[in-house]
Amino acid sequence: MPNPVESVVKNIDALKDEMVKALCDMIRMPAITPVNGGEGEGKKAEYLENLLRRIGFDEIKRYETTDSTGAVRPSLVAILRGKNAAQTLWVMTHTDVVPAGDLKLWTETPPFEPLVKEGKVYGRGAEDNMQSMVASIFAVKALKMAGVVPERSIGLALVADEETGSEYGIKFLINQGIFKKDDLILVPDGGNEKGTMLEVAEKSIAWIKITTKGKQCHASMPERGINAFKAASEFVVLLSKALPKKYNVKDKLFDPSKSTFEPTKKEANVPNVNTIPGEDVFYMDMRILPCYDPDEVLVYISELKQKIEKKRGVTVSVEKVQYDKAAPPTNQEAPVVQMLAAAVKKIYKAKAKPMGIGGGTCAAIFRRAGYPAVVWSKIDDTCHGPNEYAIIENLLGDAKVYVNMYMML
Ligand SMILES: [Zn+2]
Repeated sequence: MPNPVESVVKNIDALKDEMVKALCDMIRMPAITPVNGGEGEGKKAEYLENLLRRIGFDEIKRYETTDSTGAVRPSLVAILRGKNAAQTLWVMTHTDVVPAGDLKLWTETPPFEPLVKEGKVYGRGAEDNMQSMVASIFAVKALKMAGVVPERSIGLALVADEETGSEYGIKFLINQGIFKKDDLILVPDGGNEKGTMLEVAEKSIAWIKITTKGKQCHASMPERGINAFKAASEFVVLLSKALPKKYNVKDKLFDPSKSTFEPTKKEANVPNVNTIPGEDVFYMDMRILPCYDPDEVLVYISELKQKIEKKRGVTVSVEKVQYDKAAPPTNQEAPVVQMLAAAVKKIYKAKAKPMGIGGGTCAAIFRRAGYPAVVWSKIDDTCHGPNEYAIIENLLGDAKVYVNMYMML
């Protein structure tokens, strides 16, 4: 008797032309969000709804909400009922894409005119997120062709608004209560070239602006002023030494394994050489491991700041520029992580391992809402750039990984 999974996996190869066509069709429907100047996800959602109906999902539902510009933002949910309908394996992908950027840089083809060349499909959205979307849909078609009923229900959430905050996409869907606590959730919207990264955790992101105020004066009479640049320099050295020393926990899950505290942007101070600057502004990009509360880091920074203020006679203010606390990580032993690792091993002959990144994907929204979610796909990471492409081999390979997961006990 032939192995049933193998025969469904073979169906994917037979579906190659249809899959490439669907990818190309959708590249022609930009789905740029209204706040980015586009017409939204309407056309693409309509195309997808027809595609899902032809494939024969058991339930297809359209969820619509209106955004701040008055535009209707559609998301689709399609269910294929499994032997165990109490649990659903979800694959969430997004229909919207980012704008093309500088058109001159699109040297292969214009962004919304798909080009199939040397085993790749070029076009905006090819990799982010159409590759995963097409793969997850056609993996269901391969099951239907073979008359196979999956072990648990399969749910595809094709959502709007991922690139501009997810308010009118996945956050809206989560609030509709369609996800259940025991469901398995995969967000294939990130990955690496080998398909070996199972992203289960993200660090907190804290960007801060530090303004130091002293007293401006002529550079030949420095004692008449207070050099803000000099005090800020002392502060930046103090922060760079003290923060990594105090927050020194290493977590091998993450790459890099420690929290990072980097001084980055520096604003210009005085325009001429012979003036002592009275004000200085610099920024820090901090990526903090989930074991630390970033609020606590800010309290410590405030203590250090007082030292400099006292020593140098300056005033220092610290402002948040971006501040996202890490979501609780997905347990590495979570069934969805284990199933995915097993499927990747089978199809790509690669050992995928759980990893953490600097931040921030849609999986964090699921994690904050209490659902263990994992991010994975096999991509070259050309998203958001010019000449974005998807490798056809990966489109098929990812679909085969889904077939394995859909049929896994
Ligand atoms: Zn994306």
